[in-house]
Amino acid sequence: MSTTGRLAGKTALITGAGSGLGRASALRFAAEGAAIAVVDLDLAAATAVATEITATGGRALAVAADVTSDADSRRMITETLDEFDRLDIVFANAGINGAGNAADTTEEEWDRVIAINLKGVWLTSKYALPHMIERRTGSIINQASMGGLIGLPGIFPYTAAKGGVIAMTKQMAVTYGPDNVRVNAICPGTIPTPLVYQSRVDRGAAAPDADQAALDADAAARFPLRRLGTPDDLAATALFLASDEANWVTGGVYTVDGGRSAF
Ligand code: NAD
Repeated sequence: MSTTGRLAGKTALITGAGSGLGRASALRFAAEGAAIAVVDLDLAAATAVATEITATGGRALAVAADVTSDADSRRMITETLDEFDRLDIVFANAGINGAGNAADTTEEEWDRVIAINLKGVWLTSKYALPHMIERRTGSIINQASMGGLIGLPGIFPYTAAKGGVIAMTKQMAVTYGPDNVRVNAICPGTIPTPLVYQSRVDRGAAAPDADQAALDADAAARFPLRRLGTPDDLAATALFLASDEANWVTGGVYTVDGGRSAF
């Protein structure tokens, strides 16, 4: 991986940065020179990632916050601005899987998934927007999914939330474009992480003690590029959208899925 200081002098806040795609993006953004607010529900996980960044000479702040809470969402922005004085990039990445289909999803499961994966994405940028508008610069990246683009059985509430993230992204891009705040969505395909493994178990596609690596190999055959993604594949696209190279890019929906949604 070559680094070019593409985010030098900038600050990025990333939710769900204690694991998986958020963690990889935090490390990548930091390697490109950004100070990082590492936000996660799990403070120990956020602290571990922040420590990884500072150990290699970067700047990072671990923040415990629940993206479903308006108060937490406000506080994570305040803490970031208190520490770093500016906020240039918000990556609303935190999410959970959500199993079921329309006829059997419980109301509780629907509410839980929509709260984190849809409302949480909105709240992540709600209190960052006034700061970005005032400074007339900002890049917001909303984590959607290929599940928001195509019909995948067994993940009904997840699909609904991610489709909502895509629509929300376009509405935000149109609204805040005149303020020079860019808003884009990423739609990853399958990238093995704890979320993917839990999703297989929750929708009955794997036993709790299944050989997940073998299932990864089977799944790869359904992707035109014949492999699943890596967190670094995702981080590279997030980095582009975060950087000034994308300064005429807004309202976009970027697939990072090995071609899977092209079927
Ligand atoms: P992950 O489980 O590895 O990481 C998710 C992180 O989010 C965890 O650290 C968790 O503690 C945190 N989190 C969960 N609820 C939270 C809350 N309420 N507030 C703050 N943090 C919270 O999962 P991942 O695979 O890295 O997924 C990250 C995002 O990417 C999710 O939005 C997911 O839907 C999306 N995505 C993942 C894939 C994939 O294949 N991995 C594909 C498409 C989309």
